[in-house]
Amino acid sequence: MELLIQNLSKTYSNGVKALDDVTLTIPQGMYGLLGQNGAGKSTLMRTIATLQEADSGSARLGDIDVLRDLDGVRRRLGYLPQDFGVYPRISAQDMLDHLALLKGVANSGERKRLVEAMLNKVNLFEHRKKALASFSGGMRQRFGIAQALIGNPSLLIVDEPTAGLDPGERNRFYNLLAEVGENVIVILSTHIVEDVLELCSKMAIIHKGRVLYEGGPDTAVDALEGRIYSRKIAKAELTQYEASYRVISNKMVAGRPLIHVYSEEPLDAEFAPARPSLEDVFFAKIGGLN
Ligand code: ADP
Repeated sequence: MELLIQNLSKTYSNGVKALDDVTLTIPQGMYGLLGQNGAGKSTLMRTIATLQEADSGSARLGDIDVLRDLDGVRRRLGYLPQDFGVYPRISAQDMLDHLALLKGVANSGERKRLVEAMLNKVNLFEHRKKALASFSGGMRQRFGIAQALIGNPSLLIVDEPTAGLDPGERNRFYNLLAEVGENVIVILSTHIVEDVLELCSKMAIIHKGRVLYEGGPDTAVDALEGRIYSRKIAKAELTQYEASYRVISNKMVAGRPLIHVYSEEPLDAEFAPARPSLEDVFFAKIGGLN
């Protein structure tokens, strides 16, 4: 099964064009949707999750018309929204049980087995009796995956799931997603390049509602080979370099800016040729280069 999104557009009533003719083919496995804040990711995710309408375009999940057959999509969808902000004082176990009931698992024995399987899968079994309100950020996100997996979805949407997690929690969350992603279409929407690099074999870059790239992360990185140069400069020189070169990023390294410059011509020896990274791809694309 794949998710086929064609020519999807959406302009909000304030005039913001959040989606501008978006066409994507999303196969099974982990798919990264990478874009800065405000790029249109949540609008796209919410539209596919049947929570809001597009102005035009179409989307199909296998043989389901996503924009018309809302119940059909909802039966196959697991969704972890960006602001999954409800952490009540009830236990993880009771909450999952309640959600499974809402999903139509009426038999209590079956529900118990399902809830235990979910808790084990996301490594929260030993915390099952604790109140959700007491969970750490990483535990909350893992619980979010458990609730999203309850209907055994064929499409799982996770919107900005790693923001706010510490490195250990982020790794645990990556491992969980990688495991889940084997048999399901998983769309991981994120502004964090590392999320995509670690997890996704296919990706798209979205910027101002438009798709700037769709394909493998490696292919995009290879295409930049020979065009990225780096140099450590003094802080005061940054403006001058930005005026003379196509500076795509600058990072502080040991207190000094390390700039990455895009150039199709070789640069002189003050610059070192750099191996392109996915971050370079991202900044080059949203800067209108390559
Ligand atoms: P992302 O998820 O990539 O941060 P969003 O889809 O949330 O992007 O937003 C895309 C653009 O649409 C932004 O400019 C945002 O301010 C605007 N936007 C989002 N939701 C609404 C809304 N309900 N009404 C008006 N503008 C909105």
